Amino acid sequence: MPYELPPLPYPSNALEPHIDEQTLRLHHDKHHKAYIDGLNNAEAKLAEAREKSDFALIKHWARELAFHGSGHILHSLYWSTMAPAGKGGGQPEGELLRQIASDFGSFELFAKQFSASAAAVEGSGWAVLTLSPIGKKLEILTAEKHQDLTQWGAMPILTIDVWEHAYYLKYQNRRAEYITAWWNVVNWQEVASRLTAALKRM
Ligand code: MN
Repeated sequence: MPYELPPLPYPSNALEPHIDEQTLRLHHDKHHKAYIDGLNNAEAKLAEAREKSDFALIKHWARELAFHGSGHILHSLYWSTMAPAGKGGGQPEGELLRQIASDFGSFELFAKQFSASAAAVEGSGWAVLTLSPIGKKLEILTAEKHQDLTQWGAMPILTIDVWEHAYYLKYQNRRAEYITAWWNVVNWQEVASRLTAALKRM
């Protein structure tokens, strides 16, 4: 199933005068759409690679998948976390405000750190408020190249460490041999339960 450009959750002039209609329209209709097209293309090329069992360009297509996938995820989040003035703006309340106050000291300090983080992004990128999965606390992260590391929002359910320290004593430079061996020790029960938990959060 190819991805489709989700519609804006409000008319394209709804954020005026703060974000002008032409900018919003171009940003959504052209820029976000390009990520959707790139993501679909990357998935098609990866399917083709699997069919032909030809992974010569795997690094390229994995990067394309991350770049366009992250672009799609972050833009969807960006649209859905804005609202027309009157509905948007002001300050959060309730649990969110309590969590922000607890993790940043106050809403004002949070807002200052968020603005400073966004302003300090070098070149193209994002400031992102996240819930840390390890500390269960809110953190502000920046993504200067959003394709690095991940598709944002992706939930890991299986991984292999391919740093040399993970295999060098036994396999030296033969990483492929280590990877082949690793398949013999995967805990599929654990992976399956992580999938179930991740699906529930979707
Ligand atoms: Mn954008």
